[in-house]
Amino acid sequence: MNILLVEDETRVADFIRRGLKGEGWFVEHAADGETALEFLKDRDFDVVILDLMLPGISGQDVCQRMRARKDLTPVLMLSALDATDDRIAGLRMGADDYLPKPFDFEELLARLEALNRRVFDFGAQGAPAYSNDETVLFDRAALQLTVDGQVIDLSAKERELVSLFLSNRKKVLSRERILNAVWGTQEDPLTNVVDVYIGRLRKKLGQHGSRITTVRGAGYRFD
Ligand code: CA
Repeated sequence: MNILLVEDETRVADFIRRGLKGEGWFVEHAADGETALEFLKDRDFDVVILDLMLPGISGQDVCQRMRARKDLTPVLMLSALDATDDRIAGLRMGADDYLPKPFDFEELLARLEALNRRVFDFGAQGAPAYSNDETVLFDRAALQLTVDGQVIDLSAKERELVSLFLSNRKKVLSRERILNAVWGTQEDPLTNVVDVYIGRLRKKLGQHGSRITTVRGAGYRFD
């Protein structure tokens, strides 16, 4: 899982980050709301852990602005205030779940996994993923890739990889994110399996292969 952690308290942020990295997840950290919104503009996250009390714009404002620009990334809101009013206000602003501080790390994990599962289930039943010009099409129900009207033979991992790219067009996907999404956390993070499979997928996409670009130091992007 690829997580954006928005938390201004260094001690809390370190605690969460260390724990989630230990689970094999990728964690990006933003110490304020403005930085978080910048990250969310051009990168893809599975879940946002959003602290309510932040310097500058509040967690509620961040959530509201995300939803206003049609960013539906699941949000788990954290707050030291356990008043029911705050919880309701947070959920009204578009947060998907709410966890009062202090919390048990196991509970945080369970809630993140539940949020991620909800999105994955929804995505799996959703409409076929299309590329912008509809020349590259992956049908999630039939698990079939069509390029310029031709059905392309793919392995299971190649199918997951192409589906991931088509669902995240124009967004940079880090190698860690791809590795977690397609191979799970068991794979050695130092492996070059991602690069090898991207090479294969580029070949199979033919003239569209060059649309998977390497973004130096960041990952890959499908345009
Ligand atoms: Ca705070």
